[in-house]
Amino acid sequence: MSEPARPPLRVVVLGGGTAGWMTAAGLARLLPGMANVQLIESEDIGIVGVGEATLPHIRGFVERLGIDEAAFMRATHATYKLGIDFRDFGRLGESYIHPFGSFGEEVAGVGFHHWWLQLQSQGMAGDLGNYSLAVAAARADRFAPPAGDASLASTYGYAYQFDATLFGPFMRDFGLGIGVARHEGLVIEVERDAQTGDVTALVLEDGRRIEGDLFVDCSGFRSVLLGQELGEEWEDWTHWLPCDRAAAMPCTHATGAIRPYTTATAMPAGWRWRIPLQHRMGNGYVFASSFTSEDEACETIRSAADGEPLADPRILRFRPGRRRRSWSHNVVGVGLASGFLEPLESTSIYLAQMAITYLIELFPEGPGIDPRDRNEFNRLVDMEYDRVRDFLILHYHATTRDDSDFWNHVRTMTVPDSLADKMELWRRAGRIEKYSDGLFYDASWIAVYLGQGVFPERHDPRTSLADPARVEGALERLKRTIADHVAAMPAHADYLHRESARLAEEA
Ligand SMILES: Cc1cc2nc3c(=O)[nH]c(=O)nc-3n(C[C@H](O)[C@H](O)[C@H](O)COP(=O)(O)OP(=O)(O)OC[C@H]3O[C@@H](n4cnc5c(N)ncnc54)[C@H](O)[C@@H]3O)c2cc1C
Repeated sequence: MSEPARPPLRVVVLGGGTAGWMTAAGLARLLPGMANVQLIESEDIGIVGVGEATLPHIRGFVERLGIDEAAFMRATHATYKLGIDFRDFGRLGESYIHPFGSFGEEVAGVGFHHWWLQLQSQGMAGDLGNYSLAVAAARADRFAPPAGDASLASTYGYAYQFDATLFGPFMRDFGLGIGVARHEGLVIEVERDAQTGDVTALVLEDGRRIEGDLFVDCSGFRSVLLGQELGEEWEDWTHWLPCDRAAAMPCTHATGAIRPYTTATAMPAGWRWRIPLQHRMGNGYVFASSFTSEDEACETIRSAADGEPLADPRILRFRPGRRRRSWSHNVVGVGLASGFLEPLESTSIYLAQMAITYLIELFPEGPGIDPRDRNEFNRLVDMEYDRVRDFLILHYHATTRDDSDFWNHVRTMTVPDSLADKMELWRRAGRIEKYSDGLFYDASWIAVYLGQGVFPERHDPRTSLADPARVEGALERLKRTIADHVAAMPAHADYLHRESARLAEEA
């Protein structure tokens, strides 16, 4: 006899920012019949509303939910992103692009960067970025989607840069359309089971009670359930990532070209972002309040913006780190309620997306939660945060800058053992720690190490078996093929207009 169908689990999402609506839409769409999703949000509190740059993984999320990419891009005024241009990080006046794509390819089982290092040691190598299609296209302000086959035209990916104030409402409309129930109001009380301590209901200001079996805390930095109610401890990483404020200010586009990448420029007490959208430019100075004041940061971003300001600078305050556990009792934290690592590599929305993915994979089969599922979720989320944390710290630590107190601090600070080991592996022989889960694989680490002037003592000895002139010839051919390919791509702005016109025609 087959088991009687279980009633869907009652899921209550607290918070209607990016994390809340992504969670609600994700659960409603991908767990049909298993989750009955309600969402509470308060217009009085509002959302963070920054977070304009993403990683390529978001495309998988949009696609799995069945959202049309072109419609999504139009609604959020999005542009395409091929990577991040880092300026002045390793040394003042130097820059490199961290691409969403590879550099060359392995030859005879030896990673491309070793061949490049071999030539470089003999003064025969060109700029590493010339061997990456994503970097070359970004530098030329060109864009076309990858071919999706095994050719050179598929050696890169892309993400979106969008207006964060429009992304939430877009996901809200989508969520409401697939059956998410929305409650507007302020949660002022949390009811819990006297024996288990599990949350049983949230009480709104007007007296409404919203009951549930599983609660997802997407209440932003307030962390109403996980932090305030359950007292889940915060692991503070300020000693490794001292930036704890941002001054954000949108402005108009100064030039006609819309760049298919984000720019991160190192500043005396942090760095500033420039994110091109279709209709405006996002700007912000992420800074350490122990090294500069809020007023000074606002003044800096005002004078650094290329276009006309569209608003006054807005200060956002945060503490880098994460909750010790993201899932406690029957409360799962997603988004800022569970942790925040500054936006240097645009990882926050990715971290929310991964938490949603893991929650779906480990979704309780009934009202009782198996602690092993909870532990596994927490292990996976920790792994994601640790990987991102180490990679971010590398950008600060791998520098020769000594022109400000901030850079002197990050250059000389002690880094986590996990990062120290990775850097040692690289320094000795140009090796990258291998892992298959989490963010940032070989090409990312190579981009930052070499881009910031961290060269290994030696490279793979197998490269000496090849004739340097032949290696040089092969690299030259690759460079030319990439350049030809890029020349055939449309300008990024033209591609955006073409897609938008196609959508209008289809409509
Ligand atoms: C300076 C800065 C730059 C960033 N840049 C990027 C970036 O480039 N890329 C990226 O991926 N991420 C970025 N982020 C992170 C990104 O903004 C967040 O991950 C994203 O906005 C998710 O926020 P959230 O939904 O968790 O929280 P919020 O947007 O704060 O939403 C919280 C929600 O909870 C509700 N709420 C809270 N308390 C209550 C209550 N008591 N009752 C009812 N409702 C309540 C609020 O109404 C709101 O709807 C950046 C963040 C900052 C601070």
